[in-house]
Parts: sequence; C-alpha cells; structure tokens
Amino acid sequence: MTVKPIRRYSALIFLQQSTNGDFQRTDKRFFGKTLNLQFTPLLLHKTEFMESITDTAVSLLKRMIATPSVSGDEKNVADIVANEFASRYYQPERVGNNLIVRCHDFTDGRPTLMLNSHLDTVKPAQGWASDPYSPVEQDGNLIGLGSNDAGASLVSLLAAFLATDNTGLPYNRLFVASAEEEISGPNGMYLVLPQLKTMVTAGIVGEPTGMKMAIAEKGLLVLDCEAEGKTGHAARADGINAISIAMKDIEWLHTYQFPEKSPLLGNVKMTVTQIQAGTQHNVIPASCKFVVDVRTTEKYSNRQTWDIIQQNIKSVATPRSLNKNASAIDERHPIVKAARTLGIETFFSPTTSDQAVISGAFPTVKMGPGDSARSHTANEFIALSEIENGIEGYVELLKEIVF
Ligand SMILES: [Zn+2]
Repeated sequence: MTVKPIRRYSALIFLQQSTNGDFQRTDKRFFGKTLNLQFTPLLLHKTEFMESITDTAVSLLKRMIATPSVSGDEKNVADIVANEFASRYYQPERVGNNLIVRCHDFTDGRPTLMLNSHLDTVKPAQGWASDPYSPVEQDGNLIGLGSNDAGASLVSLLAAFLATDNTGLPYNRLFVASAEEEISGPNGMYLVLPQLKTMVTAGIVGEPTGMKMAIAEKGLLVLDCEAEGKTGHAARADGINAISIAMKDIEWLHTYQFPEKSPLLGNVKMTVTQIQAGTQHNVIPASCKFVVDVRTTEKYSNRQTWDIIQQNIKSVATPRSLNKNASAIDERHPIVKAARTLGIETFFSPTTSDQAVISGAFPTVKMGPGDSARSHTANEFIALSEIENGIEGYVELLKEIVF
C-alpha cells in the first residue's frame, strides 16, 4: 500500500519523526527502508508540525547561546551542532571549526544548494541587562548573544534542512556551519571554500534580513593613499609639491568610470573622504595623504579594483583589506525566481557577510530571520515567532526552487 500525502505537510511531518528524539525507533526503521517504508499519515496538522520543529530549533539555539563562541573559539559550539546531526544519522564533516553535512538523499551529479550560516559571535557589547551567555525567554523573545546574528538563521536553516530531507526535492542540500564569519578569518569560509566550490551550485547565506532576500551586496575597499613629492622652499618654487600630485589623482578618482557596470549595483563609486598635507606655509610638502572609500560591484573583485586604481594614480594606494568583495546574483537565477513566485521581497544589502568571501565561487542570496539592526548590540534577541516563520519560509523556498 502506498500512502499518498493527504496534506501538504504530510511528508514533512513524517520526517519530523526523525528530528525528534522521541521517535528514535521509527527513525531507524525509516532509514533502514527509506523507499519501501509504508506509513500512516500522521494526524498532526501544520500548526503542530511547525510547533514541534520550532521547538527543536529553539532548544538547539539555547544550547548554542550557552556555549561561548567568539570568532576563533567555535570548537564547543561546532561540537553541539555536529552532535545534533550525528544523533539523526548524518555524518557531519569537520573542517577546523566548520561543519559540512550532506542531506540523506544526496545524489552525485545533481545540482547542490548550500544552506550556510555562521557559528561565531562577536564579543558581548557593553550594557547587557542579563548574562549574554544565559538564554532568557521573555515575552515571546529569546535573549542571548548570537540569538539574532546568526543563531536564529543557523537553527532555522538546520530545521528546514531536516524537514525537507527525503521529500523528493530534485537537488541536493548541503548544510554548512562556518566559523570566523565576524572577522572574515582564515579558518572560516576561506578554509572550506575550495571544497565547496567543486560541489555547490548556489547558496543561501543565513543572516538576519527579516526573511527578505538580499540579491546583491556592494563591496567595500578602503585605500590609504600617499602622494610623494620633494620638499622645497615655497619662494623658490623648487621641490615637487605632493598636493599637486594628490589633486590630479583625486580628480581621476572622482571622475573615472569603470567600463563594466553592474545591472543591480550600478557603477563602482570612489570618494575621497579624508586628506592631510603640509607643515607650514613656506614649505613645499613632500607628502600628501588621503583616504578613498571605494564601493565595489560584483563586476570587479576588490583586488582587481585596487589594481586598476593603482595603475592610474601616482600616489601609493594601500588597501586596509581586500576581503569585502561585492556580490550579486542574476535576477533570473532559480533562487530569485522562486522568491518572486512566493512573493518574497528582494533588496540590495548595505552590509557584508560571508557572501563577500564566496563571491565569484558560486551565486548566493542572503536571507534569514531577525533584524540586522539588533546584531552586535546589548540584549540581542530573536522572537520565537521569527524562528517559526524563518523555518516555514526556508521550507517553502526550498520546495519552490527548480534548478
Ligand atoms: Zn552575522
């Protein structure tokens, strides 16, 4: 006898048995006979299902909050998440403090969607009313460090990953929990990207966006520049005036148009925001320092942008960092199409994330429960309803994507 799902969520409800410790026996049978297993549709309705899977996610998030995981120190929290998967017969692969988990129905040769969020938090800001590492539930909110950024996204993606496994989605899901996101550190996304590059088609990066979908992020490149001249006496007009060199360079920076324009983010924008030169009225300055704020687009990596600038100005330009690359996904990409079908709002994000690191390797969108304004603040919280809506939103999206 084959039992056809009588409700939209029947298959998911059945799967939920495997995400709940109370159903361990069923779980083993299920994975023993994945395809032949006969089951009776459960009479849980959608609300109960969502409550149950939200409980799973919230319980995990509380344990994560209670486990300090400032960037670089994610070992213990990675253990907790790895155990959560291992208890459901997944085999999480550990790369440093990063985790990579394949769905049970992973099939070689199919497109693969990465579900990623980060394990690390910033250090607690000043002004916490409670212990940032003690999860507190109050008025429907869960308060704790990393609850909003990005714990809620991580546990909601994890719940959606579990809920959609073995439900017949025509593509693979790869869950990736990354470390060192908050510092763009070498042991986070940078460490796993070479491996992900070979298998991932596209990705969802979980960050608090109120479940809106960021389809592009401008990059940021800050250049400390110095024009070098030669000192001399102003009355004799000898020496080489560094201010003159800087002025020509600044003129170029303010008027140059990069040939390639991004359809979503527009042109690369360069603005000189600080300048400093000279010591006294009668000395020709040998040095003029200025700072350029460059907002980059996905058409040029930050390194390429820097190269082009350096080839065109005489001043020496030193980047503070090359990490914060722009990213953008094609508006016709299957993930964006699915969002449009579901009425999910899309936007361009002013903040950077691990998307900046992934940029160029494969396309991603940024989307997750919570509010980026609450990130890195005292008394950071997430509403439990946001987690529930997050899980539901991710599940709906995963079901809608057709590669
Ligand atoms: Zn974050």
